[in-house]
Amino acid sequence: MAPPTSHSQSLVPNPDILTLDRIERDTDRFRFWVHVEQEPICPVCGHASRSRHSCYCRCLQDLPWQGAAVELWATVGRFRCRNSSCPRKIFCERLPRIARVYGRQTERASEIVRLIGYVVGGLPGQRLLARLSIATSDDTVLRRVRQKPALELSALPIRNLGVDDWAWRKGQDYGTILVNLDLHRVVDLLPDRAAESFSAWLKQHPEIVTISRDRCGLYAEGAMLGAPQSQQIADRFHLILNLSATMERVLEERSRQLVLPPVEDPLAEAPPGTDSDLSVDIPSPPLPRPTQAQLRRQRRLERYEQVVALSNSGQSQAAISRALGIERKTIRRWLRRGQFPERKPPHRRPPKVNEFADYLQQRWNEGCHNASRLYQEIRAKGYPGKRAMVARFVAGWRKTGKAASPKAPQRISPKHAAILVTRPADQMTDEQQRLFDRITTQCPDVIDLRQIALRFRAALTAEDSTQLRQWIAGAKRCEFGAVVRFAYGLQKDISAVAAAVDTSWSTGQVEGQINRLKTIKRQMYGRAGFELLRARVLPYSPATIAGPAP
Ligand SMILES: [Zn+2]
Repeated sequence: MAPPTSHSQSLVPNPDILTLDRIERDTDRFRFWVHVEQEPICPVCGHASRSRHSCYCRCLQDLPWQGAAVELWATVGRFRCRNSSCPRKIFCERLPRIARVYGRQTERASEIVRLIGYVVGGLPGQRLLARLSIATSDDTVLRRVRQKPALELSALPIRNLGVDDWAWRKGQDYGTILVNLDLHRVVDLLPDRAAESFSAWLKQHPEIVTISRDRCGLYAEGAMLGAPQSQQIADRFHLILNLSATMERVLEERSRQLVLPPVEDPLAEAPPGTDSDLSVDIPSPPLPRPTQAQLRRQRRLERYEQVVALSNSGQSQAAISRALGIERKTIRRWLRRGQFPERKPPHRRPPKVNEFADYLQQRWNEGCHNASRLYQEIRAKGYPGKRAMVARFVAGWRKTGKAASPKAPQRISPKHAAILVTRPADQMTDEQQRLFDRITTQCPDVIDLRQIALRFRAALTAEDSTQLRQWIAGAKRCEFGAVVRFAYGLQKDISAVAAAVDTSWSTGQVEGQINRLKTIKRQMYGRAGFELLRARVLPYSPATIAGPAP
């Protein structure tokens, strides 16, 4: 394979037709005076002509030499086309493999500009190039990056495709990324996340055999429309995410049970009733003022009662929505529920220092009352927080002179509990295992949920989908509504879900490519347009080489 034009090792580009006459040294640059020896060809009809009309001097920026800029000064001829049927009478001779028509840079120099722009972007590229003695503007750098590459990767046949979405702005605009799973390369970006655009893209690639996707219905629909011949595969990681979200939904309904019993403390001898005196002043964010919270609840309750009253008087949901200015969705939810929907209590994460309560208490009782020293000790054991939190933690003990475990009930968020429920036993730390055991005392359902979750995980790593199909059949009959709905959802998408186990494809590498895309997007401060972002995310391929190939 011939080396790319930018790798030319000759002093002047394309020495077959360019001959160096002399070199001039200016203060900051070299001038290479060259002349052209070739048979000029009319660009319109392709006839050779030796009938010179005139000549002119063309100046081209070339690769730097000895750290200084290089200008190529070439005497280029204008010729008469003698082909009587050709509309062109006079033409300028072209410089194949040297420069494009009207180009002011040699091709090998512009290839370097394009490569640097691809790697670092416009303005940083311009600065780096200036240091390398290639003077150019940031606009030129970006224009080169957007230049159409010779080899469009999306034009290559793709067998196994991975698809996922990426965020232009999280929660607002999304785009689509398409990855060739065999080559580990991005093949295209789409500016939106829609079944139509995905299916239109797929129609140009009838060679696709499998499509690995998340379980968002858009890509399933797009694949069905655009590539009905292909096999769809649900991604295992996304299935685990779906499971986790399901568990979270189940636990949200039980959020009032997600209270941790206090850590058992053999040293605490305080009689019941004096707990509040001994309890440690645990730093926590200030509570919302109860009066305001109560007022809000009262207002909400009044509205709820209005909705129920109107509904009982026979008004339609749409009419109630118009009358009270409440979203129809909200009204439907309220009426379905049949009782006033209480707001979930706010979840506050317990401070990290609580996890080291046992150790701190032991050291305190041994006589170490120095907060800085205690901080150093637990930091060595992995405490990630600040010294001030440790000081506040032991301040209560200092007042009473007695170490006691925190008595305040700790809450655990449904999300956190769902993580514990779905995590395999061998991936749990001792701390997490203890936490899980503590949850079970108030919320025994988590034991069953954990069994369900672990069986699902095991089914995903099984040899074939038999176990997964059994799991779905079993889950449809279980007592947890969200799990039942999840199982029915899987059943609907069963061919793709089963393929997640039966085949080895996943969108794991797509996630990696999304990380790369995010890095590039942020490197340009999120201000790049779609074309530029696409040009920098697609793999680099050499620019088209003007003129006949060597
Ligand atoms: Zn001609």
